[in-house]
Amino acid sequence: MENQYTRAVRREGNVPAQNLLREVFRVSDRAWRGIGEIPMSGYALRDEYAEYDAEKIFDVGEIRTQESPLCIAGMILQGLRKPNECPAFGTQCTPEHPLGAPMVSSEGACAAYYHFGEYRMERQS
Ligand code: SF4
Repeated sequence: MENQYTRAVRREGNVPAQNLLREVFRVSDRAWRGIGEIPMSGYALRDEYAEYDAEKIFDVGEIRTQESPLCIAGMILQGLRKPNECPAFGTQCTPEHPLGAPMVSSEGACAAYYHFGEYRMERQS
């Protein structure tokens, strides 16, 4: 097998794209669901692009997501717990009725555990 990835990817990355990101965004504090605010962990539009900034246009800065009290997504996202250690996993929380973000999208940790568990059970039967 020969890795062809190096034909398209350079060690320095996509420099024009990086320059564009630096031109439009500045690094800023961000609140992450289930974890809370992490200093300098996200992007915000620079002042030159304020007319496109939904946070300024719609005054949504104080909106906070209400997490289910059953959901331990923050611990899962930090690697402190596994999805199947959540008491709601596969019962109150499923891909059809997710309580937290990791169960919503198919690549979310809880959804992946849920589907992989099904796959393992099918293989064993
Ligand atoms: S199984 Fe559901 S409730 Fe539990 S951590 Fe994952 S998303 Fe949250």
